[in-house]
Amino acid sequence: MAHDNNPGKFSRRDFVAAAAAVTVTGLSTPATADDLPRVDEADPTAQALKYVHDASTVDPAQRPADRFCNNCALFGGAADDAWAPCSIFPGKAVAGKGWCNVWAPKAG
Ligand code: SF4
Repeated sequence: MAHDNNPGKFSRRDFVAAAAAVTVTGLSTPATADDLPRVDEADPTAQALKYVHDASTVDPAQRPADRFCNNCALFGGAADDAWAPCSIFPGKAVAGKGWCNVWAPKAG
């Protein structure tokens, strides 16, 4: 019953170091979409809102086919930006082709 066959396993020390590096990077760079960390689909908020990077994977019963982050009122980028900030996920970037269930139409 050895548990040594897990290539994805890393130490707590490695985790802390990685988390610190992400934090420092986030604080030391301008908040452009290219520099922002991407929202993790496994993040509790992302899960609660059913956020995904690829809207085409969403059950059509849950999402009208014309709704993407890049045409949502809360998307902080241009329509052709692959990634941009979203006010629902402060400090993170969401995918232009993504979606979540609080999608809102842009003001006309
Ligand atoms: Fe995408 Fe809009 Fe949801 Fe933000 S609020 S994740 S831009 S659909």
